[in-house]
Amino acid sequence: MSKGAIVVGAGPVGLMLAGELRLGGVDVVVYERLPAPSGESRGVGFTRRAAEVFDQRGLLDRYGEVEWAQGHFGGVRIDFDRLRENHFSVRGIPQSRTEELLEEWVTGLGVPILRGHEVTGFTETADGVVVAFEGPDGPGEDTARYLVGCDGARSVVRRLAGIDFPGWDATRGMYMADLVGANIRRRPIGEQVPGGMVMSFNLQDGVDRIVIHDENLRPPEDKSSLRFGEIADAWQRMTGESIHDAEVGWISSFTDTTRQAAEYRRGRVLLVGDATHIHMPAGAQGLSVGVQDAANLGWKLAGVINGWAPEGLLDTYHAERHPVGQNLMRSTRAQTRLYLTGEEMEPLRAVMRELVEIPEVARHLAGQV
Ligand SMILES: Cc1cc2nc3c(=O)[nH]c(=O)nc-3n(C[C@H](O)[C@H](O)[C@H](O)COP(=O)(O)OP(=O)(O)OC[C@H]3O[C@@H](n4cnc5c(N)ncnc54)[C@H](O)[C@@H]3O)c2cc1C
Repeated sequence: MSKGAIVVGAGPVGLMLAGELRLGGVDVVVYERLPAPSGESRGVGFTRRAAEVFDQRGLLDRYGEVEWAQGHFGGVRIDFDRLRENHFSVRGIPQSRTEELLEEWVTGLGVPILRGHEVTGFTETADGVVVAFEGPDGPGEDTARYLVGCDGARSVVRRLAGIDFPGWDATRGMYMADLVGANIRRRPIGEQVPGGMVMSFNLQDGVDRIVIHDENLRPPEDKSSLRFGEIADAWQRMTGESIHDAEVGWISSFTDTTRQAAEYRRGRVLLVGDATHIHMPAGAQGLSVGVQDAANLGWKLAGVINGWAPEGLLDTYHAERHPVGQNLMRSTRAQTRLYLTGEEMEPLRAVMRELVEIPEVARHLAGQV
């Protein structure tokens, strides 16, 4: 008898889903192409709603003391203290820490995580999927009743399933660098400066992260050609501060490419997390929405695999989460315009600053983020 589900990708979303399936009594395995965690951290926290999901699974306490932080909408500060409901997000948690905690949880539940195993293809049969992979000992095959692609923005599962990924191409880009020993002023929600936007905040003990949008710089297609010197020059041009002598950790770049999978489910194949939606990380929401996608799908897929829920229940995953993804894209595109445009946007920012003084508006925007 083949296993219940194969999850592709041990990012935060794949791990969350694997844990949810296991709690639902499903025999599940995770395939991950990287031989070991990268240790890199795109994300630096998660939203209130993701915190609630972690809390429901007893995971929030494992972080120890967390910093609950105020937020903003495209750089327009929202005073969360004035809202009745608590919309504070968690900040100062590198994504690698979230992945580490989730991996501990999932392996503790007995889910095998097969690292160094890259999924390369699959075929759907009448009662399951046959998955092809390239592992440390060469090519192999595995079977399961369902296949779930949690394999990120460039999802192979999405491509092989023939699911469209329509959206908008990049119009602007950003650079980031993690620095040790840089003596810079912190700008946690970013500041507009002539020619772009600069942001700087404490990532973890002794490490600062800077993020830059310079309207003259376009991130390279191939990130391996990124050079810190270019980022340091831009930072100095825009802030007057030199970071050239700082010790440099991870550097990366990203764009505002925005796309969403047209179908979250096709037959026995499902997609979750960045495999379904990509966008500018304005408001720091991708991981959080992905974790909530996983929480939505987990119990449903477990119910179908265990035979106590009808297969049609799986369609409610798309019906419920696709609109959330659409909202996410609209919100991040709106925030990108507010955040990363020049002086011409200043009147609209001023109007937004006035509007967020109205509690109903602040609650609505805080709820979106
Ligand atoms: C600069 C930046 C800052 C961000 N900050 C935040 C933040 O503060 N808060 C937040 O909520 N979100 C944030 N995000 C978004 C967040 O990083 C992503 O949404 C999140 O990583 C998505 O998780 P995932 O598990 O869906 O995909 P990924 O993290 O991309 O994981 C996919 C996994 O699948 C594996 N994989 C891929 N293909 C295969 C294959 N064929 N076979 C096997 N394995 C495969 C990959 O190796 C990878 O481990 C940020 C993003 C960026 C770029």
